[in-house]
Amino acid sequence: MTKKIGIIVPCYNEEESLPLFYKEMKRVMEQMDTQFELLFINDGSKDNTLKLLKELAKKDKRVKYLSFSRNFGKEAAILAGLEHIHGDYVTLMDADLQDPPEKLIEMYDMLQKENLDIVGLKTNDHKNYGFIRKFFTKSYYMFVGCLSSVPMAPNERDYRLMTRQVVDSILTLTEYNRYSKGLFNFVGFETKWITYDAPDRIAGNTKWSFWKLFSYGIDGLVGFSTRPLVISSFVGILFCFIAFLMILVIILKTLLWGDPVGGWPSLACIIIFVSGVQLFFLGVLGEYLSKIYLETKKRPVYIVKETNTIQSEKK
Ligand code: UDP
Ligand code: MG
Repeated sequence: MTKKIGIIVPCYNEEESLPLFYKEMKRVMEQMDTQFELLFINDGSKDNTLKLLKELAKKDKRVKYLSFSRNFGKEAAILAGLEHIHGDYVTLMDADLQDPPEKLIEMYDMLQKENLDIVGLKTNDHKNYGFIRKFFTKSYYMFVGCLSSVPMAPNERDYRLMTRQVVDSILTLTEYNRYSKGLFNFVGFETKWITYDAPDRIAGNTKWSFWKLFSYGIDGLVGFSTRPLVISSFVGILFCFIAFLMILVIILKTLLWGDPVGGWPSLACIIIFVSGVQLFFLGVLGEYLSKIYLETKKRPVYIVKETNTIQSEKK
């Protein structure tokens, strides 16, 4: 029986890229002797994305769409996709052709021949991103790499072809605060990477502002490492130790030389510094607390307004 590949495409205001994406995808599908399901997730787009998707679905039975009631973010779109997609193999692709559909042929061959569970794509470099974004991305992954027990690399794309078993394993992770890169690496399985040069976005603009990325980064860190909490304890202990030494020095100095009390400016600086450190770690604690808060509310990750696909049994 021919195998089926399910393709999940999160779309947020992608009216410009979608026709180009579909054209390219169609060309690739014609070259492969597998069945396909193209599941587009309309993540609350404000442009004509949904209209375009409906038109595509009319023309091509392989096209399915699922439309959210508002913008829930790419992570929510990925989850909805994984929950609703059909197929023996599943992959995620961006709508802007930065994840080239033709790579799917190579990925599928590799997965079959080497009997792997996941074949992913890694970029050589993000040519289209500015210096600042590159710098922050690199430093972020270095930082998270040191703190987290789950390995994550800066150039791993979400574009990966997985077996049904991997998809089912990811769906067993039911957390509200989702960070896919971490979740993929958490479930493990035999993974191989193909490296390629990421092209520029085909049309439209990136949907990630600096702050959206920043808060996504915090989600990744808090979701996959509790070490910041351990570090805060260590810093606390270190400061207590330093304070103890300073007290000893002051007592000895007073006993030996009878030094009068002086140096209030340095004292003020120390107080401000230590309060700063305390507030910072209170913030760190707050981050974890807020995640627990959201987690316990058990709110849905996304809300579907309309769709032409049926809910898969596995939720
Ligand atoms: N996206 C989404 N919801 C969002 C933001 C982005 O579904 O809130 C989709 C977007 O339509 C695209 C993919 O996620 O298909 C990647 O977004 P983008 O290309 O803007 O990110 P970048 O490549 O700049 O990291
Ligand atoms: Mg992109």
